[in-house]
Amino acid sequence: MRPETSGNQQLIKVINRMALVRCLCANPGLSRADLAPAVDLTKSTISLLVRELIDEGWLVERDIVTTGDLGRRPTPLFIDPSRLLLLGAEVGVGSVRVVATTLTGEVLARNVGSFGGSRTVRDCITSLAAGLQRVRKQLEPTQKIIGIGIGLPGGVDEASGTLQLAPNLGWRDVPFGALLREKLKGSVLAGVPLFLQNEADVAAVGEREFNPTPASDPLLYVSINHGVGAGVIVDDRLLTGSRGFAGEVGHMVLQVNGPLCTCGRRGCAEALIGLRALHQLPLQPEQGASADPLAEVQRRLAQQHGDTVRAVTIAGAYLGVLLQNLASAYDPACIVLGGAVVALGDKFLQPALQTLADYSAAANLAAPTVRISQFGADAVAIGAAGLARYRLTRPNIRTSFSDKVTAGPSNTEQETD
Ligand SMILES: [Zn+2]
Repeated sequence: MRPETSGNQQLIKVINRMALVRCLCANPGLSRADLAPAVDLTKSTISLLVRELIDEGWLVERDIVTTGDLGRRPTPLFIDPSRLLLLGAEVGVGSVRVVATTLTGEVLARNVGSFGGSRTVRDCITSLAAGLQRVRKQLEPTQKIIGIGIGLPGGVDEASGTLQLAPNLGWRDVPFGALLREKLKGSVLAGVPLFLQNEADVAAVGEREFNPTPASDPLLYVSINHGVGAGVIVDDRLLTGSRGFAGEVGHMVLQVNGPLCTCGRRGCAEALIGLRALHQLPLQPEQGASADPLAEVQRRLAQQHGDTVRAVTIAGAYLGVLLQNLASAYDPACIVLGGAVVALGDKFLQPALQTLADYSAAANLAAPTVRISQFGADAVAIGAAGLARYRLTRPNIRTSFSDKVTAGPSNTEQETD
């Protein structure tokens, strides 16, 4: 496809530019000559677009060491890690974590704040806006923020920027994107494209965008905190469902007449695996006990408390049941596990993997690939930056809360404060 043959040249040009960026994200070091067949554009178009992308800060040329007798080699191109940046934020239950990343997901700055006292939407937006601006201040003034992603603890309608339901905060139908945009008005971040999505969904996108291991599709990201959720990517698309509730796997029922879940049903995955299930262990108050429920479970595991070891083992086995059900539904190339509960380590994860292996062996199939998120506590915040990159570099399938976005720095950060 050549841009000059289209009636909508501007859009085609944006799509072609971002095809080059995506290609170099996946294959750093390609030359202009390598890119032509990879994205199916003429060499002259490639040269023109690459020049623009270098000038604007998306790409950088790096010299290669020439050996002398091979003549002039093609110059390798890379995503520029220094000029155009992304912000990603995780809104948790009472806390806000913000990171600034390069276009390839490397964290350059970080801020963690709290709105734990009130848990009102207003305090959350205030804390989030402050966190975003604090992180911006840690960067060089010459660096530009081209997108802001936000991971929210509930179902999100990405096109309208609405947080539809956040059960652990008791929020419903919050116009989160509009409120944040209003709060950022007049600041250096006003006008930067905003992208909002569920926390497990953005973490899934982050694994896909920023993980240097070979691409895996379909990819499932299963997040285990107070709640249990999943982000699902199939054919390079985030599966959000008709109302933004796809991936609410914490409420898949795993046990008839099981323990009561926050949703009102019994036997949901969340009631068997989530942090709430673990700290409803028959714990007797004792000296040295931690106020943090996860830290308390860890402490008791380290001391080999029989009840705790048993409860964590059972929860791990139920995680294996959940993963088996998800594997049956999606046939994933890769399952990534994240969230705070993963910090319990082998005592929790081994029973899950063993259960999964047993089910696979019984059906004479290979067990699905399971790995732990490499981004740890930053997984959702980095994932949110990943969502911004994902949407900005796929202009043809973008679902953006932002009114109008161009995949260049022209519509990004304003220089006013
Ligand atoms: Zn439930």
